[in-house]
Amino acid sequence: MIRTASLGFPRIGPRRELKWALERFWSGACDDQAFGRSLADLRCQRWQQQRAHGIDIVPSNDFALYDHVLDHCCMLGAVPERFGFGSRPLGLHELFRMARGGEGAPPLEMTKWFDTNYHYLVPELAAGMRFRAEPSKAVEEFRAALELGIRTRPVLIGPLTFLRLSKRVDGGPAIELLPQLLPAYRDILRSLAEAGADDIQIDEPILATDLAQAERAAFPAAYRALADAAPGQRLLLATYFGAIDEYRDIVCALPVHGLHLDLVRAPEQLPAILESWPRERTLSLGLVDGRNVWRCDLAAALSLAEHAAARRGIDNLQIAPSCSLLHVPIDLAAETALDPALAAWLAFAVQKCEELALIARGLADGRAAIAEALAACEAALAARRASPLTRRAEVRERQARLTAGDRLRTTPRAARLAAQRVALGLPLFPTTTIGSFPQTAAVRKARADHRAGVLDDAGYTAFLRAEIERCVRFQERIGLDVLVHGEFERNDMVEYFGEQLDGFLVTEHGWVQSYGSRCVKPPIIVGDVARRGPMTVSWTSYAQSLTAKPMKGMLTGPVTILQWSFVRDDLPRAQVAEQIALALRDEVRDLEQAGVRVIQVDEPAFREGLPLRRRDWPAYLHWAIAAFRLCTAGVADATQIHTHMCYSEFNDIIDSIAELDADVISIETARSRMELLAAFERFRYPADIGPGVYDIHSPSVPETAEMVAMLERASQVLDPERLWVNPDCGLKTRRWQEVEAALPRMVEAARLMRHRHRTAPAQGA
Ligand code: GLN
Ligand code: ZN
Repeated sequence: MIRTASLGFPRIGPRRELKWALERFWSGACDDQAFGRSLADLRCQRWQQQRAHGIDIVPSNDFALYDHVLDHCCMLGAVPERFGFGSRPLGLHELFRMARGGEGAPPLEMTKWFDTNYHYLVPELAAGMRFRAEPSKAVEEFRAALELGIRTRPVLIGPLTFLRLSKRVDGGPAIELLPQLLPAYRDILRSLAEAGADDIQIDEPILATDLAQAERAAFPAAYRALADAAPGQRLLLATYFGAIDEYRDIVCALPVHGLHLDLVRAPEQLPAILESWPRERTLSLGLVDGRNVWRCDLAAALSLAEHAAARRGIDNLQIAPSCSLLHVPIDLAAETALDPALAAWLAFAVQKCEELALIARGLADGRAAIAEALAACEAALAARRASPLTRRAEVRERQARLTAGDRLRTTPRAARLAAQRVALGLPLFPTTTIGSFPQTAAVRKARADHRAGVLDDAGYTAFLRAEIERCVRFQERIGLDVLVHGEFERNDMVEYFGEQLDGFLVTEHGWVQSYGSRCVKPPIIVGDVARRGPMTVSWTSYAQSLTAKPMKGMLTGPVTILQWSFVRDDLPRAQVAEQIALALRDEVRDLEQAGVRVIQVDEPAFREGLPLRRRDWPAYLHWAIAAFRLCTAGVADATQIHTHMCYSEFNDIIDSIAELDADVISIETARSRMELLAAFERFRYPADIGPGVYDIHSPSVPETAEMVAMLERASQVLDPERLWVNPDCGLKTRRWQEVEAALPRMVEAARLMRHRHRTAPAQGA
């Protein structure tokens, strides 16, 4: 029998119930019981929703209070000693301390889940670590669903992916710990089997990445051990985010009962798998895009499914999304303000479940059984193809006219920097911030009131101007060198631009989880991108008018806007990035003409855009660098271009970052404990650089001496003449009280450095 399956569903709830529950709990406004009840409701709702919309195989254990990787740390006993929990059972308090820090212990590091904008907490492992199974979370979820009459398929992150996502605090490769880890996995599988879980989904998305030799070699024995854990239990190995390619032979030889393939990212892998995957085992076809919001081309998906069925019969086929639906918003039906003609182009998680059900029915009962749906789908797709919204002649013509010169600043960077330093009157170790200042409740309320029509345009502008003025005065008072306006007008660094650019749609409730209780509402790029008019100039030039100090204009870069939007699937990403870059180039020009002499183009998602396979890196880097340069290369030599990056691993692309040809980069380093600096031991970075000295994710205020120590470490691998002093990232999530305490210390740290290095004989002038 053909069945539909879901690999995972959004956790946040249709109205971000998870976020509100977490924040209430953290603030002490609700107790453990009330918190537990709201979560139980949410979990049930997710299961029932998937069932109601046509999913036969519903997952469990895909829900997480904060993060599913963190849940696995708890389930496997992979809890760092530094938290001092000893052998006490882990409760909510412990879970949130690992996620958020506290009581003197910093939280686990956070980084991006493959090439998504979802952040997971990085497990910290060490050689002597005693893994042990703590299966209660997975078992309880399974039982809770069973009580509702839903026999779920629990999801586990596979052991090899878990180890890849971990880091060894004592050095050495995490994979060495596999033998100690496997017994814990086996115990979890057994506990689930005892609870009645006959089917288990094991995710190994690392099969879509470059595997180390040791990882490849480890798969067979690891899966032998898992397969033997509970006789009769069926394991479905889920791969996604790309093709399994050269690992096909390894995968097909694994003693697992089922295999899931991402046929949206990698449809080309199907024929070979149909040859090699045994017919008596389950094949799960990932036909509906779990990473994007476009409506599925039902006829095309059905063709793939029919092809598979023709080769191997339909008995052991499952119809699934390409990956977990975690990455898409929940329900398109909530978008009541969206033009229905445009809504017809889209599908969110709920609609994707319905698409799966249709494909399964079309396969089981023939196309005639879903003729109406096929026709409606074809009509929507045809309307989208023909829509004038998707193509703008003037944008395409401008792209066609671009030359290499448009991406080139002709004066070498060193000469530009020297001229800028004089023109801007900057001292050694100049100080600045990354852009945003605290988004207080008052700021959020003014924005909401303005949106709701309670506060008129004039009132809102006056409010924002007052915030800007206060922020500028504060920065002047504490003696920062390059100021910012504070970004009070922005809800989000991508959505703000999405709202103002043609070619973008914004949703009302299209939230996706970024990490923990944090959600983002990615705009949707539906058509060619064009700028309607200046987007930031009035705020920045107002701020500049208040001060003689240089004011830094603040833009989100083309790669980050692309990366943090749902991107159209009918034009190559490189082309879309180029269109965004052209719109931003005009904004850069307007800022410059308005007298702004420093412009920062943020690219925190630059690294995240890297393809999962190294062989695909050069092509991406080529167009991503070109887009950034197109956006920034139109300025005069004296205009200083900054960029900013954070919360990723930058060491292996530092040479590409240099190729962006920005004059100054600020980059997160404090949170990841200055790991970045290792890159500069091998590579001489040719521009100014501000390694973050203030971890803005932590509510604690660093000591001046700590910041000086970080700057001294940086001075050992970077030319002190090239160093800037700044926080890791924007301050929007901090409170004014914290910022007012931390930034003067940062300015003082810079002053101390100036003093030391000016008087140090080696530094000369
Ligand atoms: N300019 C942005 C800010 O300060 C940058 C945010 C980011 O890097 N994610 O908030
Ligand atoms: Zn940042």
